[in-house]
Amino acid sequence: MVDNTQAVEEIVKKILQEMKGNHSGESNAVARKGEIPKTARAAMLTALEKYEIKEFPIPELGDDDILVKVEGCGICGTDAHEFKRDPFGLIPLVLGHEGTGEIVKMGKNVKKDSAGKDLKVGDKVVSCMIFKDNPDITMFDLNKQNVGGADVYGLLPDDDIHLNGWFADYIVIRGGSTIFNVSDLDLDSRILIEPCAVLIHAVERAKTTGILRFNSRVVVQGCGPIGLICIAVLRTMGIENIVAVDGEEKRLEFAKRLGATKSVNFKEHKGVEALAKAVEDSLDGHLADFAFQCTGSPIAHANIYKFIRNGGGLCELGFFINGGDATINPHFDLCAKEITVVGSWVYTLRDYATTFDFLKRAKGIGLPIHELITHKFPLEQINEGHITNLKMEGLKIAIVNP
Ligand SMILES: [Zn+2]
Repeated sequence: MVDNTQAVEEIVKKILQEMKGNHSGESNAVARKGEIPKTARAAMLTALEKYEIKEFPIPELGDDDILVKVEGCGICGTDAHEFKRDPFGLIPLVLGHEGTGEIVKMGKNVKKDSAGKDLKVGDKVVSCMIFKDNPDITMFDLNKQNVGGADVYGLLPDDDIHLNGWFADYIVIRGGSTIFNVSDLDLDSRILIEPCAVLIHAVERAKTTGILRFNSRVVVQGCGPIGLICIAVLRTMGIENIVAVDGEEKRLEFAKRLGATKSVNFKEHKGVEALAKAVEDSLDGHLADFAFQCTGSPIAHANIYKFIRNGGGLCELGFFINGGDATINPHFDLCAKEITVVGSWVYTLRDYATTFDFLKRAKGIGLPIHELITHKFPLEQINEGHITNLKMEGLKIAIVNP
């Protein structure tokens, strides 16, 4: 018996040693499935065009906090600007605001999401803006305030917690933030929620003009991710006469698969008069009732008035950042044609809830919205992901954790 016990002890010791050996050099962040590790990796932008993968301790959760294991996060145009120029002066920080993941731990006060749905460990979530104590930002105040006045995870200055952005293994969602249970959406849909909310908002802004209707003839200028999603949103709401304008044939082809009826390649038309004629021809001899301007080009802004009929409407949403001044002729472009213009920027909380339904509808009518995600990179290749994004080769680039 004594001998036997010793033998067992020896075996246990040996196994333990082997286990230790196997794990040497591995980070805590890759703890076994289901376990919450002590530390988490985060891609920190430490200098222009330079991410470093850093390891931070996962902090104790407060009673109102939620720990989310990140599954994926899209790279946004805003991230590209931060990566190249740091216009917000935020370096060093953990970027990534188009993220989603699974709740692995919750503080004892957390019971419901921002729309009143139950929350539990294992639920898939996205976050939106951080309320703090601004009484103007509440869930159902449509268009009262866009996210411009609020903070967002992934664009926060670094602090003691560090896990403030979605380009990481884990993120700490603190009390006073918005969070939505989106367990009924697949990962790709969840990664697309944030950019899609931008278009839900833009179309809501467009609708305030009273000009956009079911049978409207619509022009969407610019077929990057924003313009393409715009087309899909219009299509899911029943608008069927959509002309896409862009300079890349591949993007125009995709625009058609997402719901555009016709496309116009501006490179094939010299001068704005010829371009306007091409748009008119593709709308069976009519100018557009409504136009969405989805590029960041001042010339494109100036041109788009020529595509719109007298009494028509325009939603300008391409200028997420200052892209410079555009020259228009107020007499010909605005007054004489009586064009109604609305601007749109980011989204409100209410738009988030609408976006979840949009993604289900888009899938339901067979729009290949998931194909917007053209590239996926693991966290450790985040620099490559950003460089691919800057090369404008793909559409939406996503960082995805295994
Ligand atoms: Zn974004």
